[in-house]
Amino acid sequence: MNNRELSEDRFIKETRPDSATYGQDRLICLIREISVQDKTEIIQLLLPELMRLSRETFLHLRRSSPRFSTSEWPWLSGTKPDTLTMQDANRFLCACILELNAGKTDVWANIEYFVQEILENPENLWRSILLHSPEGWADQYWEYDLHPEPAIHARLYEIASLMVRYYHGDARQIWADYLSSPQEVFRRIKVLNVPRSTACLITGALKDEHYLEGVFDIVGDVVDSRVLGRIACGEGTGLTSYQARILGKMISAEDPWILDRPLYVLGMSYCSPGPRCRRCPVHERCVYAVSADLGISAGKKIYEGLFGQKTVQKSLKRWL
Ligand code: SF4
Repeated sequence: MNNRELSEDRFIKETRPDSATYGQDRLICLIREISVQDKTEIIQLLLPELMRLSRETFLHLRRSSPRFSTSEWPWLSGTKPDTLTMQDANRFLCACILELNAGKTDVWANIEYFVQEILENPENLWRSILLHSPEGWADQYWEYDLHPEPAIHARLYEIASLMVRYYHGDARQIWADYLSSPQEVFRRIKVLNVPRSTACLITGALKDEHYLEGVFDIVGDVVDSRVLGRIACGEGTGLTSYQARILGKMISAEDPWILDRPLYVLGMSYCSPGPRCRRCPVHERCVYAVSADLGISAGKKIYEGLFGQKTVQKSLKRWL
């Protein structure tokens, strides 16, 4: 099967009114059935139910605690689109751009300090950055202390010049006219030459804060791929970013973005490369953990049922 055939239409989208216990029991039955089944056609008949159970797991998790369903976005949270100032919109955008690989650095507090204390609250953050020469900006790397990586400090200057060229230095122009289309806003952010994951983060934050409405994919980064792969496939290492996004659509076709926050929190708190399944809130609903408890393996068969055999994918790649 090729990826083109992996349409989410194959998967039933509605949540069944089953009890939590029924879902857990049914997951055990499905994993057992798949692990002993050799016929791919039969495994593929079982996959829609597996995706539905995964969807229930995520919905259950989102309902169980606000930390799995809501995020706080400085300068956006609690503000309506028509009252957001250009200064706050620019700070938000700038901090999201600096989030990339920031590690433990608190970019949100750094941006606040940079704008207030160093630039003295300028009318337009991006134009103020461009008051430096490119060399002068690079020289301020230590002084401004915006990000641990010099390359990202330097990139901010290029982004400032694109912001002024395309959006007059006003971040609100990126999303103001596109209230119903996260995809369009995503494309407008990509014009700034930022990585895909950063553009997803910004678009998703705007969706979380109801600045945008509409369907949007999960980020599909290494954390998403690992956690989603384990929960839905029982495979945490084999999924590419593209496959993770396809899987997100299979599980939640009406809006994959609802999976993103739970994936992030699980990935940061429990599902690291060495997972802490016993403490994890989805332990009884996760294919990886349930398979391990049963002492059986269904991950490879589920993966191949969804995406085809890895060796076939590799051979196909050589011809494409
Ligand atoms: S149960 Fe284990 S494998 Fe599954 S999401 Fe939680 S930590 Fe990850």
